[in-house]
Amino acid sequence: MKFNIILHITTSCNYNCSYCDVIKDKKQISSKSLEDILEFIKNNKDYIDRFKFFGWEPLLAWNNIINIIDNSKKFIWNNFEIVTNTSLLNDEIWEYFEKFFKIIFFSIDSENNFDYEKVEEFIKKYNLQNKIYFNLIISPNKEKNALEQFYKLYNLWFRWFNILPVYITKIWTEENLKVLSKIMKEILDLSLIDKTLKLYWFQENLWEELKLANNTIFVDIDSKIYYSDIVSTFTWKKVKQDLFLGNLKEFNLEKLGNYNFKKEKGFISKLEENIYNKVKWQRQLQKVMNYFSEYLNKKNAK
Ligand code: SF4
Repeated sequence: MKFNIILHITTSCNYNCSYCDVIKDKKQISSKSLEDILEFIKNNKDYIDRFKFFGWEPLLAWNNIINIIDNSKKFIWNNFEIVTNTSLLNDEIWEYFEKFFKIIFFSIDSENNFDYEKVEEFIKKYNLQNKIYFNLIISPNKEKNALEQFYKLYNLWFRWFNILPVYITKIWTEENLKVLSKIMKEILDLSLIDKTLKLYWFQENLWEELKLANNTIFVDIDSKIYYSDIVSTFTWKKVKQDLFLGNLKEFNLEKLGNYNFKKEKGFISKLEENIYNKVKWQRQLQKVMNYFSEYLNKKNAK
């Protein structure tokens, strides 16, 4: 069995989004942890499938990312992934994206600038058409801005999106949910006409494949390993111990072969349900998302 690794490489971010729920204590991965991760990759090379750099803004740790890629590409080759807010892109980074990365997630929202022209220019210059996915984050009262962003990207040829309303930290009123539903229906209906448009949260199989949910371990900045990256948010840190798997130094993926990931997934779903059920608007938001997921999957199945 092969596993996917998510590496938390920095706890710094150069943005200050109003909906942010992560613990930004401005740490970089230490040189000792870097050595441990390179040793780990070498020792477990036969059991690693995909390797994802995770931040808060991972490009703030670009030198460490280069170090890992340069020293482990012969084991992982072009199966690297990253999630970035796009603010620090430059030619060197794009070249690495082109050579070594399989999937690049751009997270954008209505609060921060996204340089459409620059990204278009880079994409034309490098061969990246089939690698870029967008997390399009929607806040209450910014739903229409999100729709505008979507069309701008769509018209630039981007076709792979995760439409992601902000959970937990923002209040969704009934009016907000109505506007959100309207824009989601518009985007989903477009995807029924244009089959190249993929909405990966809503399309179950695609989402499972992309989010690295299965057989995935999360290596935190302090070299501790957890079942999921959710442990690094304020909301979820209370379950950190429950999802602890071990320390990087002595960790062996071969021995993890029989680990019951499905059981942990059920555990997380229950925790999520508890959180959503406590607050009325979160429950409503979840219902809206589930409704549209079902709507799209049913229409696509016809
Ligand atoms: S880009 Fe992400 S990590 Fe950074 S402030 Fe915004 S939500 Fe938080």
